[in-house]
Amino acid sequence: MYALVEVSSFVPNFQQDCFQLMIETKSGRVGRRGGKRRLRVLYSIAFVVALIFLFVRAMRPSPRMRAKRELEGARFLLDSLSKRIEREEGRISTLKRLKYLREGMIRPGQGMFQALNDLGVPNPVCLELVNTLSDSVELINMIAGERISLELDPEDTTRILTFSYSPHPAVVHRLVNNDDAYVYKRIDHPTMVRHRIIEGTLEQGASLDQTLRNKCVPSSMVGVVTGVLLCKISFRTHAREGDRFRAILRERYYQDSIRIEGQVLYTCYEGTKAGFHEAFRYDDGDPKSSYTAHYTEEGEALIHSGLRYPLDRLHISSGYGMRIHPLTGRRVMHRGVDYRAPTGTPVYAVAAGTVVKSGYNSNNGHYIAIRHADKYTSYYLHLHRRLAAKGRMVRARQIIGKVGSTGMSTGPHLHFGFRKPNGAWMDPLRKRMIATPKLEGDRLTRLRRQVSEIRRTLDSLTTQTPAVTMRGGTE
Ligand SMILES: [Zn+2]
Repeated sequence: MYALVEVSSFVPNFQQDCFQLMIETKSGRVGRRGGKRRLRVLYSIAFVVALIFLFVRAMRPSPRMRAKRELEGARFLLDSLSKRIEREEGRISTLKRLKYLREGMIRPGQGMFQALNDLGVPNPVCLELVNTLSDSVELINMIAGERISLELDPEDTTRILTFSYSPHPAVVHRLVNNDDAYVYKRIDHPTMVRHRIIEGTLEQGASLDQTLRNKCVPSSMVGVVTGVLLCKISFRTHAREGDRFRAILRERYYQDSIRIEGQVLYTCYEGTKAGFHEAFRYDDGDPKSSYTAHYTEEGEALIHSGLRYPLDRLHISSGYGMRIHPLTGRRVMHRGVDYRAPTGTPVYAVAAGTVVKSGYNSNNGHYIAIRHADKYTSYYLHLHRRLAAKGRMVRARQIIGKVGSTGMSTGPHLHFGFRKPNGAWMDPLRKRMIATPKLEGDRLTRLRRQVSEIRRTLDSLTTQTPAVTMRGGTE
């Protein structure tokens, strides 16, 4: 009953409401439009809510994405940590190395032995290092300021792991300790070769020497240019104002601005009284060949000297003067120059003369002495074989023996000495020597080829900007 009453009391109301709504929607425009707007607003709200829902859902990373991102983060952290560890390890090893690294410099008047001594290296080790290095590197031209360094064994600081010598920034000569025997290694950094042309005319009262210097030509190259031309021209009597000269310099640079070496490739001089003269640098292939020098186009040597080199290849392992003796370790006067060469290499008489000594003793080993026309005497020591007997006449460049290591010697080399007529020893390197007064055969053909190449360089230099060629480095 109660339920019925309830329904009946509700139903009429419901019907009334529906009726009213129908009237409202049908009665006039205003009422209909208001309803549609409400519906539209409702739909819009639903649509926006749906959009937001979808957007949030799309933006929320999936569990897989989340895991991936976490992994990336962990990786980044690990990376930066390992980089930091690497840096720290590098710092520690640098510190360790610094502790076991000794660095030095050649001081004025010093040789390699003294420079090593200054770094605390004991005499026998100094000797071993110097002797081993001089097999590969000429140490007689060392100058103050060149750098050396040692790396000591952290386990035993008396043991040297590496010894490095750098005559200039583009090269490092290194001895590496390999089971207590030193192995030589050369490290070359890339360098660049440039050709430079120098030309001008002599002004009144000016010398060629001074004019070249004013044009920023290094003194060593000024010496080569004037020395070579002096073979053909007597500047004192034949140089005139307005004479023209030209030279091509071939210079090697490190890092674009540090000049490490230079050669005079070509030079010429043209004067009213002096005439026209040209000189070409001939390269015999091996940088230590005694044939590498300046010649005319016809192959005539441009050094005035009656003396020929005693060997074809010139590797000086010890120069003239005070030195530490390689065997006794005492400071003694070295009265000659040591050329390192393999046993059996032919030894030539430097000039014609008479063999005044040909014998053997415990110091010199097998040795020969030749007296020349100017009363100077040349000495050849430690020979493996003697090929000229006492009293015999020899020609210049005649083979008189073979290189060896007899007598007081640490390895195959030629000790070459020069004695003045009064008996005093002199530095043989002060005597100018040549391999030959004139190139012949294959060497002459090679010179001709090089002359045409030099002429091409000359043409390119006189018509355009300087030629530049690159040379790669090696390690
Ligand atoms: Zn010697």
